Amino acid sequence: MGDIVDSIVPETLDRLGVSSALEERLMRVERSLESLIPLELDSGERVYFQGFRVQHNSALGPYKGGIRFHPSVTAEELAAMARLMTWKCSLMELPFGGAKGGIAVDPQPLSPGERLRLSREYLFRMYPVLGPDTDIPAPDINTDSETMGWMADAFSKRSGTWRPDALTGKPVCLGGLAFREEATGFGAAEVISGFFQKESGKGHPSCSIEGFGNVGQHLALQLAERGFRILCVSDSRGAIANPGGLDIGTLSRLKGQTGHLNHPTLGEVFTPDGIDRIDVDYFIPAALPRSISPDRAKRLSCRHVVEAANAPVTPEGEKILLERGIPVLPDILVNAGGVTVSYFEWLGNRSGDRQDNDRVRDALSTRMVRIAQEVMDRAKREGRTLREAAYLIAVNRVAVAQSAREG
Ligand code: GLU
Repeated sequence: MGDIVDSIVPETLDRLGVSSALEERLMRVERSLESLIPLELDSGERVYFQGFRVQHNSALGPYKGGIRFHPSVTAEELAAMARLMTWKCSLMELPFGGAKGGIAVDPQPLSPGERLRLSREYLFRMYPVLGPDTDIPAPDINTDSETMGWMADAFSKRSGTWRPDALTGKPVCLGGLAFREEATGFGAAEVISGFFQKESGKGHPSCSIEGFGNVGQHLALQLAERGFRILCVSDSRGAIANPGGLDIGTLSRLKGQTGHLNHPTLGEVFTPDGIDRIDVDYFIPAALPRSISPDRAKRLSCRHVVEAANAPVTPEGEKILLERGIPVLPDILVNAGGVTVSYFEWLGNRSGDRQDNDRVRDALSTRMVRIAQEVMDRAKREGRTLREAAYLIAVNRVAVAQSAREG
């Protein structure tokens, strides 16, 4: 099943009137490295996993993008995610291209020591294509600041120099930014509340959030702070709803302690798909790609869909949502807060400046609000969807840079 990015980019390139050669250039992946990653388990047994780094386009600067540990990882899937990173970095005016990496592994059963060894082995194998001016990884699904700390160390052991700018999303003690962890959720909340203010700005809109990992939890907290009512959240194992609004702070703490959402004192508990029944103003997928199939798009009871995850709405799903008059706030804008704060971290690591958390938050807020406004204005002025407008801005910038480099 394809992603919207497969159709929206050719459409956008046609609108921009670029040559078919440039269109091919921008659709194809520049470089891809696949490597077998060995792991010695605590038991002493040796197992192997497939690891990848896919680099889509570097017209605007070094490649940038996360590393995920997930059984669904394939070269094809990462290529789709790397393309999204190119357009996301461009839209956010970052001097980066797009990449994505990962290992086809379920990390849940692994011990911390096994995860450390796996992360280190991955970095050693990908080292030839990485670097602070070449390709800068960051956290993604099932990876976090701890993983980045291990990988930054492995990078430095291999290169012989400490280069904190080789990876972003690191622990604060290694040059990371405390705000990085909440940045994607915060940025998404800025976009959603900006959109809401522009539409009506009245009352306390209701939301459901699918996915209660790093992005979902911080987004829920941020939206609750801004007066939104979070009626339902779900993860891969269950869902919880409260018509009066969930106590997100407590739920987040309990999920941290227990690993699940089965807490009947906070709301009604049911299976993950029950989230579709809850009527809300904003339905926010914040988990895996392609979660909104055509069937779900028909079923959802909401006024807007907000892509906090990467590529959660399928092309057929989007068609149905738009026919139903449900606008979609696109991923390359909504979840761009993470990579934008990665950029601030990278800049600080290069200059050696210590960065202040409040300043970083303000800088992210200013940029998200300005670019969200630009996308909304362009969509309105030209009668386009928000996704079409975002892609016109993002793809044009890459196309111009690509032509300036290669004619
Ligand atoms: N994994 C995040 C994303 O999909 C962040 C990438 C980064 O910080 O480089 O946008």
